[in-house]
Amino acid sequence: MSMTDPDCLFCKIVAGDIPTAKVLETDDVLVFRDITPQAPVHLLAVPMRHIRSMADMGPDDSNLLGDLIGAANEAAGASGLGERGYRMASNVGEEAGQTVLHLHLHIMGGAPLGPLAMTDHLDRTP
Ligand code: 5GP
Ligand code: ZN
Repeated sequence: MSMTDPDCLFCKIVAGDIPTAKVLETDDVLVFRDITPQAPVHLLAVPMRHIRSMADMGPDDSNLLGDLIGAANEAAGASGLGERGYRMASNVGEEAGQTVLHLHLHIMGGAPLGPLAMTDHLDRTP
């Protein structure tokens, strides 16, 4: 698979073609502010390389996954979330609500976040 997708929003952000509020940059990972924050602090950590979602990661990507989480932790700490706690989540595919098909880790915090998912609408009958 190619390293970038010319039609991908986050590839364009990584390339600097679309401006964004960067929080942290490593060789392989960029962390920036979500444009529509759903918490007082809402960051996105993305690999520089185009990967569609966590579903496309495996044992060969262990270094990148470690780098992604490491950068996310550093950005969370720099944003004052270290002691308070924060949530990391990554949507995979349509029913999870993934809207940008370039792997991203949401880092959210700055207030008590409540339950992980909105599940009240779900039919829970077995
Ligand atoms: P998803 O719904 O795929 O899990 O998350 C995509 C996230 O990307 C959403 O939270 C959305 O607000 C954010 N987003 C969409 N377009 C842009 C953009 O142009 N810039 C930034 N910084 N975030 C974006
Ligand atoms: Zn991409």
